[in-house]
Amino acid sequence: GVIHAVSIQSESPRAQTEPANYFFRVLMLGAPGVGKSSLTNQFMTSEYLGTNDFGISRSMEEKTVSLLVDGDESTLEFIDGLVYEMDELRSLSGDAYVVVFSITDRLSFENATDILRELHHECGTERAIILVANKSDLVRNRKVPNEEAREIADQFECKYTETSAVLNHNVDELLVGILKQILLRIGKDET
Ligand code: GDP
Ligand code: MG
Repeated sequence: GVIHAVSIQSESPRAQTEPANYFFRVLMLGAPGVGKSSLTNQFMTSEYLGTNDFGISRSMEEKTVSLLVDGDESTLEFIDGLVYEMDELRSLSGDAYVVVFSITDRLSFENATDILRELHHECGTERAIILVANKSDLVRNRKVPNEEAREIADQFECKYTETSAVLNHNVDELLVGILKQILLRIGKDET
């Protein structure tokens, strides 16, 4: 299948110099309490967006953030707050899947592993999939070793990152990373 990235502006063929306008859907997945909403809210309120070349606009209500990369504008819409059953997951289509677990919650890691297995089975490396180990600030309560999470990410061929939504650690990097992974798949990024 083809990724459902839609160019929302030009209907006629555009000149190569004309900037593109993309709209992408990002699904926030994972067990309850792992920090999906906290991460999404951090994406929306990131100071970095206002002070950097990347950021141009956001809408809290629609949970969208627009980012400029090489002159092209990409709007990311975050779908958050739903717990999906595995067969529901199969029918979902996102341009990116962010699979979150908490480093303090072993069960949430097992849940994330199940989701990754399912996504890998359904889309292989066709879609952007990122495993996020959240609550990295709670080191003394860590129940999931970094190496173990990394191994799972390797096994299911996805990106891996550790974040803290409360400390806003690595959250901007995750946001830009999600977009880069999507653009890579539509041939818009060489890195
Ligand atoms: P969701 O159910 O996945 O949407 O999780 P929430 O975003 O609602 O977060 C659940 C709880 O975990 C809340 O009390 C958050 O404040 C807390 N939380 C979220 N992210 C972090 C984090 O990075 N570190 C810590 N210490 N707590 C977090
Ligand atoms: Mg939530």
